[in-house]
Amino acid sequence: MKIEDMISANRADCSGCEACANVCPKNCISMERDAEGFAYPKIDHEVCIQCGRCEKVCPALNFKSTMPDKLPEVFVTIHPDAKVRRHSSSGGTFTALSEIILNSGGIIFGAGFNENWHVVHTSAENLDELENLRGSKYVQSQIGYVYKRVKVELENGRQVLFSGTPCQCAGLKSFLVKDYDNLLTVDIICHGTPSPFIWENYIDYRAGGHDIARVNFRSKRQNWVDINFEINFYDCGYYAKHCQQDMYFKQFLIDLILRPSCHTCKFKFPNCKSDVTIGDAWGVQNFAPKFFDNRGTSLVIVHTAKGKNFLSKAKLAGQRVSFDVLPAHNPCFITPSIPDNRRQGFFDDLKNFPHLPIAVMQKYFHQNPNKVAPSNRNLHAEATQKFDAILRQLAKRREKNILFIVSTLDEVVANTTQNILAKFEGSGGYILQNQGDEQFILFDAFHPLVRFGGVMNLENLRTMFKEFHVTDIFADTRINLSDALKNFVEECGLPVNPFELSTK
Ligand SMILES: Cc1cc2nc3c(=O)[nH]c(=O)nc-3n(C[C@H](O)[C@H](O)[C@H](O)COP(=O)(O)OP(=O)(O)OC[C@H]3O[C@@H](n4cnc5c(N)ncnc54)[C@H](O)[C@@H]3O)c2cc1C
Ligand code: SF4
Ligand code: SF4
Ligand code: SF4
Repeated sequence: MKIEDMISANRADCSGCEACANVCPKNCISMERDAEGFAYPKIDHEVCIQCGRCEKVCPALNFKSTMPDKLPEVFVTIHPDAKVRRHSSSGGTFTALSEIILNSGGIIFGAGFNENWHVVHTSAENLDELENLRGSKYVQSQIGYVYKRVKVELENGRQVLFSGTPCQCAGLKSFLVKDYDNLLTVDIICHGTPSPFIWENYIDYRAGGHDIARVNFRSKRQNWVDINFEINFYDCGYYAKHCQQDMYFKQFLIDLILRPSCHTCKFKFPNCKSDVTIGDAWGVQNFAPKFFDNRGTSLVIVHTAKGKNFLSKAKLAGQRVSFDVLPAHNPCFITPSIPDNRRQGFFDDLKNFPHLPIAVMQKYFHQNPNKVAPSNRNLHAEATQKFDAILRQLAKRREKNILFIVSTLDEVVANTTQNILAKFEGSGGYILQNQGDEQFILFDAFHPLVRFGGVMNLENLRTMFKEFHVTDIFADTRINLSDALKNFVEECGLPVNPFELSTK
């Protein structure tokens, strides 16, 4: 299929990653904005030589779903320099990773502002230049020919960090074709990106002819959790509003102005193509309170050995946490945002009044929230369901699934089960914590912090046993199996291997 046919069939398939425009040997693909203000490729057929490279490189056309062998490790992290953290949206992890590359003479690519405060991909070769890349810009950034520049730097043997949205990292990887040892890719947990046309009109409207000194989507003037959007002017102070009270920010947050591809995004976990994903550690006060001071904490998901290596070298304080904080606090890592019910109406109005984008924004901003039909979809529930489905798929693919029966789950028990697991190559499984009263909680044996589903009864256990192909059972010697649990184990027809706790 050709890219233009794909886009005519369904615009939402094209994320605007710009890989096709970067690969075209005749430079005959331009990215042109549609009536919603998002860029799509347009081919100049007079110049096109039908080489097919744009089709080959398109991550959407060639999309294949992937599944890692196990869940990635997740960490909360904080940059030790208070100033870096103040200027970063979350905990400053992007800066800490960039510092390693810059110290080795490398180069960083990421989203920055140009002289008109439009968002574009650009580069930084020292800490001063990195300032422009630091901080989230809630707008789709224009890649331009940055993938080509990345390739030149890589071929010259330079260390490169490329950061962007998951679809941009997929676009780059697809463009490069092969893996490079000297490339580190960092993507963000991605809620979605709003229309650049809307942003560009909005920032002009807010500036009102004054010169802007700085735009900060995530000012920590108040604190990290209460997000403030701030614009500083050279000659007339500043504009600052809570994210819910700023017209643009609010419309981003309620999913009114995102690119169509963001609502069916293909590059959510487990299809991320980066080495490391970074985001906000929302809810950290509940699951790792030592790392909460309301000045910003990062959540880091490590997908590859290279990513792990960089994270271990980065100047960061941190702690490993359970994967299940993601469906609970950051559903966008797993499942796409749900469009506001008024999205179609908003963009129809914009098509009818293309010269009045601010009036269209105002109309929807001032709409009585009680008159807005609520969505009947629940992002957290969808993320939790997808997460359960992923765990099931991982279990089914394994040759061996071990069921550990324990009465408590502390560090010693977790270490012991990990040691036993290590002896069975290619195996995974579950830790079954007996709560008494025929109630059980199940944890992933690879990640004893990851709770699997809610509280279970014996019937749920039977279903799980059949579905996950349990091959071995181990039980903590201290546990007294209740009659019901004994019956369940007998039904399984597998011997119970007792295990002693080990502290090593
Ligand atoms: C559009 C968007 C949506 C996001 N949605 C979520 C979310 O739902 N949940 C969540 O936890 N985190 C989300 N994030 C990520 C979060 O806002 C922080 O960017 C991230 O945690 C990194 O913070 P930091 O402190 O490590 O570094 P910072 O210095 O704050 O991060 C800067 C990094 O973000 C990249 N970046 C900034 N703007 C863009 C852009 N427009 N396009 C591509 N890359 C960009 C830069 O290249 C750089 O790598 C989103 C970010 C963006 C840009
Ligand atoms: S077929 Fe080849 S020349 Fe034509 S637009 Fe695609 S990449 Fe460019
Ligand atoms: S390569 Fe990217 S921009 Fe080009 S058609 Fe595919 S998804 Fe769209
Ligand atoms: S939600 Fe998906 S399609 Fe949208 S910008 Fe993020 S990664 Fe790209």
